[in-house]
Amino acid sequence: MKTILVTGGAGYIGSHTLILLIEAGYNVVVFDNFSNSSIESVRRVEKIVDRAIEVVEGDIRSREDLDRVFKRYKIDAVIHFAGLKAVGESVSEPIKYYENNVYGTINLCKVMSENGCKSIVFSSSATVYGNPASNPIREDFPTGATNPYGRSKLFIEEILRDIFISDNSWRIVILRYFNPVGAYKSGVIGEDPADIPNNLMPFISQTAIGKREYLSVFGDDYDTHDGTGVRDYIHVMDLADGHVKALDKIDSFNRVMTINLGTGKGYSVLDMVKAFERASGVKIPYKIAPRRAGDIATCYADPSYAREILGWEAKRGIEEMCEDSWRWQSNNPNGYR
Ligand code: NAD
Ligand code: UDP
Repeated sequence: MKTILVTGGAGYIGSHTLILLIEAGYNVVVFDNFSNSSIESVRRVEKIVDRAIEVVEGDIRSREDLDRVFKRYKIDAVIHFAGLKAVGESVSEPIKYYENNVYGTINLCKVMSENGCKSIVFSSSATVYGNPASNPIREDFPTGATNPYGRSKLFIEEILRDIFISDNSWRIVILRYFNPVGAYKSGVIGEDPADIPNNLMPFISQTAIGKREYLSVFGDDYDTHDGTGVRDYIHVMDLADGHVKALDKIDSFNRVMTINLGTGKGYSVLDMVKAFERASGVKIPYKIAPRRAGDIATCYADPSYAREILGWEAKRGIEEMCEDSWRWQSNNPNGYR
């Protein structure tokens, strides 16, 4: 049985992925500094899978913390979710982002290599495509970031490719996520933003339970079917499944694999509002607001490479994404608190 170190395993995507990893027969060790999460998510996953999960509190920027884990467990591969992800904050605090995301990943790779573990699945983002010339977006499209968060992802991608060039016994999978939403079916775990949500889906669901007065729709004059921004929303359990499939195959990859995880379908902000209203039966008040700086009109994936290489495709539609987000939000109005 392989043991997987899951950095950021207490976070939104990490906690959902734990379930499928354990169901697929992997041993997991969670490594998290809880800067944007709490141990409660892992405790709830333990109830879902009916098993205790090893958790190490530590920081990827600390050699000592990482070394302790690699000495204590025989880690076969790492899924590296740990990172900061707030675009706006990255603009005002770029050093924090480069230190946490870029330096943290370098540190992680160094300790992995010293301990003979050279398999990593890395959480990248569709944000590395910047403003794409066309849609759907293929993995070979030009990259370019518009903010320090996106640049931290691009830098890490390049660093991982350089590491492979220097030592091709590494096994590296870079997964570029589109827009993760939804929650585990039972509604006991989900996305729990610490502050006012930046992302659309948690903002809609907090508006639905009355925590927010109304949703600001950022721009209705884009060149899209209804003028609002179009994105590729992907259910977090489909995303989680992509990680398991990447791990299942990782030993067979003899080059750095860069793979989109998206559905291939684009929905506008107003499409999502309507789908959420249908799923929840709750009216979502909204106001049209100015465009948000740095936003693009349209972004959706060409997911065919993931199908070809991983045998993976997203199965869940926006109705299910909204139903599951709503179940989590309405059962847990204050998240894990
Ligand atoms: P999240 O904030 O819920 O999870 C990240 C986890 O990493 C948190 O539990 C946090 O406490 C932990 N962490 C942060 N810095 C750490 C450090 N220095 N040491 C140890 N742990 C640390 O975010 P998420 O939505 O689950 O995202 C997971 C990954 O996927 C991130 O790398 C993110 O950039 C990437 N990603 C997310 C999205 C999205 O919309 N959610 C989209 C594309 C890519
Ligand atoms: N959006 C919005 N109001 C919000 C949050 C987001 O209108 O409060 C829009 C945003 O302009 C974009 C889409 O919803 O068109 C998805 O935004 P999100 O921040 O979730 O993801 P990203 O912009 O990173 O793709």
